[in-house]
Amino acid sequence: MKYKAVRGMQDILPQDVGIWHWLERKARSDLESYGFKEIRTPLLEDTSVFVRSIGETTDIVKKEMYTFKDKKERSLTLRPEGTAPIVRSYIEHSLDKAQYGSKLYYIGPMFRSERPQKGRTRQFHQIGIEVFGSKSPYADVEVIMQLRNMLNSFELEDFTINLNSLGCNEVCKPKFTDKLQKYLEGKESRLCEDCKRRVKINVLRVLDCKKDSCIQVVRNAPSTLDGLCDPCKDHFDRVKEGLSKLKLINIKETKNLVRGLDYYTGTVFEVTHPDLGAQDAIGAGGRYDNLVKDMGGPDTPAIGYALGMERIILALRNKTTSTDTKSEGVVYIATLGDMGKIEGLKLADEIRKALPSVVLLTSTMESSLKSQLRAADRQGAKLVLILGEDEIEKGEVLLKDMIKKDQVPVKRKDIVEELKKRLKC
Ligand SMILES: [Zn+2]
Ligand SMILES: [Zn+2]
Repeated sequence: MKYKAVRGMQDILPQDVGIWHWLERKARSDLESYGFKEIRTPLLEDTSVFVRSIGETTDIVKKEMYTFKDKKERSLTLRPEGTAPIVRSYIEHSLDKAQYGSKLYYIGPMFRSERPQKGRTRQFHQIGIEVFGSKSPYADVEVIMQLRNMLNSFELEDFTINLNSLGCNEVCKPKFTDKLQKYLEGKESRLCEDCKRRVKINVLRVLDCKKDSCIQVVRNAPSTLDGLCDPCKDHFDRVKEGLSKLKLINIKETKNLVRGLDYYTGTVFEVTHPDLGAQDAIGAGGRYDNLVKDMGGPDTPAIGYALGMERIILALRNKTTSTDTKSEGVVYIATLGDMGKIEGLKLADEIRKALPSVVLLTSTMESSLKSQLRAADRQGAKLVLILGEDEIEKGEVLLKDMIKKDQVPVKRKDIVEELKKRLKC
């Protein structure tokens, strides 16, 4: 039997991991400069954490979650998104009272059993943030500004941030639900089977449907923006004004952008990129002012977003980026005989301490010098240090330059200086 990775789940292989490290490094450095602190929640949660927050009638909860019973018959779910677990943790640990509770970020895998396709895997990875405690439109502006700056630091430029407001749960959303239901009356026959059901139980989701027939039907639907109550309209106007004063380009007001999760209220946004097509967002987010309270916590407004790392990498693949990490010096230590092996490990340790930026490889196999040199070449070593019994006796190391193809003996005590010179470090 030949084992294979689970369908829709991918290995990230050593030759491909460089861009992941690069992306994570950039994200961490950017987020931390805004005062965000990382939070790491478990991959598994009680199923109810997601049902309660994302919404019982959403596609994620109905069709896409990996849910199973453990040995004690508890229903557990692999997290399909990051916000609900963080809100659970925020409440459980009273982070509203903690020093670092208000600006959180996460980087990690999520799980949804969607049909696998390009840029869409069943285990996928997200970079996301959550900002708790501010109801002000300036929180929305800062989050969108940070998002824009971080995407720029990833060297992505051609993206658009699509912006909309859903309004509040108290007035705007119920009013719009009514309006949309009336608009769809008599048009049900043209909707897909799922949407026929959605009209009655969660009509906003019809606006999310990716089926052509449904997109046609809702093309002329009323807009959430037309019916906003005064405070919601004022909030959204101030967000737009703030963004335009900061000259944040690539921001587009987009009618009826709703997002596939029930907890959003007010401002919502989505990042699209021409290389991924209109249907596939790089990431999305919005306000969820009621969620913390709905899940049993203090009344706390909040806003956040999540970016799909696979999608960003897909968009980056189409251009050359400075993600190559091969520039650091690689030095290989080839050794012969038992004494050589031990001396080699010792020497490697000395060099690592003196020159931490150098990658030092040692041969732990008892193979010939020729095959060790082949291994050094395959692993990209610029320099090889050869240690046999002769060299040990003379207190020397043979230094071989793999590019110039020459070799010279170097006194053991001068090795670090010699490497510094040759590797310019
Ligand atoms: Zn409202
Ligand atoms: Zn539909």
